[in-house]
Amino acid sequence: MPTPPTPLSLPPLTVRLVGPRGFCAGVVRAIEIVERALEKYGTPIYVRHEIVHNKFVVESLSAKGAIFVTELDEVPDGARVIFSAHGVPKSVPAEAQARGLAYLDATCPLVSKVHREAERAFARGHHILLIGHRNHPEVIGTMGQLPEGSVTLVETPEQVAALPTPSGPLTYCTQTTLSLDDTATTVAALKARFPNIEGPKAQDICYATTNRQEAVKVIAPGCDAFIVVGAPNSSNSNRLVEVAQRAGARQAHLVERGKELPWPALTHLRTLGLSAGASAPEILVEEVIAALKTRYEVTLETVDVKQERVTFNLPQELR
Ligand code: SF4
Repeated sequence: MPTPPTPLSLPPLTVRLVGPRGFCAGVVRAIEIVERALEKYGTPIYVRHEIVHNKFVVESLSAKGAIFVTELDEVPDGARVIFSAHGVPKSVPAEAQARGLAYLDATCPLVSKVHREAERAFARGHHILLIGHRNHPEVIGTMGQLPEGSVTLVETPEQVAALPTPSGPLTYCTQTTLSLDDTATTVAALKARFPNIEGPKAQDICYATTNRQEAVKVIAPGCDAFIVVGAPNSSNSNRLVEVAQRAGARQAHLVERGKELPWPALTHLRTLGLSAGASAPEILVEEVIAALKTRYEVTLETVDVKQERVTFNLPQELR
């Protein structure tokens, strides 16, 4: 009697699923604002910029009737528009008002908190040093809270030495989605150069960015590879890749979808860490796990480093 063929067996892989990961309270709120506005007012609802940095989310909302635009001049007179979670310069709501557009602001309350800090310091006569990434929408929004010339962007600790000598008091604030470690280095350089500089009572880097980075630091050491699900333009997702690399993962990659997994680099793995940026939906994490299962016999190990219970209220008119 012939021997039956041996079933093809896949190599074993332990996937260490990092918690917390994925959507934060600010992203949940921003998406809900668009969905509720569509339910309440019907189409069209315009959204200025990606509501959050994730193509899947943007395409899902587009399918429901949201129209994404880059600037307000693409929004017809009399239409309704929503501003993204990253925040907008003051000129944007002012322009909407001047044109009689009805608008809803989906700016994350933790970004608005930084705006108010900068405004209060400016009102006390301080010049603002904003630690952040040039051209990121959040940085454009925060700089746009104050008159031109009142805020100087600082991107790296090296730039601190080149800052001009200030003519008055200084306050620093930061983008909410930065690397905790890099920001601490930049703040230390600022304090060394300007001993009287003031800063926020509690750091501006938000709870979601902090928790996701801290959790990756716990899980990444010893991982043969680390995957972060997120968009290339998502600041907090990119920072998670850097944190995984620095914490000891042998390699770390950012992917938006399961089909983007860099297979040539992902051979002979035994342990893989998996997290997701604050704007990446869980369905895309599941997609990555499904893709891994086509090449490996996956054992899932969930490691919850911290529980999150933060929620933000919707604007009054949508409650
Ligand atoms: Fe708000 Fe932080 Fe989420 Fe950005 S990452 S939307 S600041 S909670």
